[in-house]
Amino acid sequence: MSDDFYDVLGVGRDASEDEILEAYREKVSEYHPDVSDDPDAEEKFKQIQKAKDVLTDDEKRQRYDQLGHERFTEAEKRGAGGGGGGGRGGMGGNPFGGGAGAGGMGDIFDQFFGGGGRGGGGPQQGRDLRTRLSIDLQEAYDGVTKQVTVRRPERCPDCDGAGYPEDADVRTCPQCDGQGHVTQVRQTPLGRVQQRQECSRCGGDGELHSETCSTCSGQGQTREQATLTVDVPAGIRSGQTLRMDGEGAPGDKGARNGDLLVEVEVESHPDFERDGDDLVHRHAVSFPQAVFGDEIEVPTLDGGATFDLDAGTQSGETFRLQGKGMPRLRRRGDGDLYVTVQVVTPDSLNDEQREALEAFAEAGGEEIDVEQGFFEKLKNSL
Ligand SMILES: [Zn+2]
Ligand SMILES: [Zn+2]
Repeated sequence: MSDDFYDVLGVGRDASEDEILEAYREKVSEYHPDVSDDPDAEEKFKQIQKAKDVLTDDEKRQRYDQLGHERFTEAEKRGAGGGGGGGRGGMGGNPFGGGAGAGGMGDIFDQFFGGGGRGGGGPQQGRDLRTRLSIDLQEAYDGVTKQVTVRRPERCPDCDGAGYPEDADVRTCPQCDGQGHVTQVRQTPLGRVQQRQECSRCGGDGELHSETCSTCSGQGQTREQATLTVDVPAGIRSGQTLRMDGEGAPGDKGARNGDLLVEVEVESHPDFERDGDDLVHRHAVSFPQAVFGDEIEVPTLDGGATFDLDAGTQSGETFRLQGKGMPRLRRRGDGDLYVTVQVVTPDSLNDEQREALEAFAEAGGEEIDVEQGFFEKLKNSL
């Protein structure tokens, strides 16, 4: 069974209302869930009801014919979403009146009825708020709990967000007749389009009040300083954002709060450069250490490590200390620490050192044989 309402009832597009009702009665008796053994009977029954409701209502049928099944259903869904929760009169009735030509109608809905934040035209969800938090590399390594202070809007405690005192006199807004919105009809190349706008006088409430709340000047919100505790997970990188659910601005009329987005900045560290989850450390070694090799101690973020410097190490060579980098955010394991050694040439020598070096030079130390490709390798390691 196709979803098209005419197909659902099995009538032609030019069927009269009587024919439609006749077809409806037949189908209902066939698919009524109480009598049918078709497993999908209930669903089909609903479709039949829906098709009858739309096709026996002149206005709805006209729109259905203009929009086609898909667009009609979609537009109707949006209209129904907008009516929920707001408690404003007239929303459910005809959210998309006006005869426009088929074609661009979907776009027009997007423009006029969509885009009202999540959930269409219902009460507005609160805004997301942003703040920044600076931590050092050790804190990023360990994970840390920090406090952030934000000034954020809060629901006004004196009027509970209403914007007026409880005992204020209420009257119906004359501009919108209590509807909370005004409708403008515009002529467009696609036909007449009704554009619904929130009433500027009452702000969509449909009511006016004799007094406004003095605490919030009728805004329903006040700005308060809030101190929040943020758990920063180990391994976080600079520029990453933590989302704190519901800690943003309060929503409109009971809608959910926005979130607080905390952008984390990880400060640079004197001993380490960070490359993703890996760390790079530059370490100075002496000429004899490079020649003879040595056990080298290097700092790490978990207290230090040692590695074996090979005999004959060249300046600029890099050693990888597996698992000594940053923890991987919300994953197992750690990055690596890359230690790049720099051989330090002494700029002053005592007599003993000078004699020893002169002896080294005399013994042929000035003409060091280097293997082929050595300088290439050296360049690549830098
Ligand atoms: Zn109004
Ligand atoms: Zn207030």
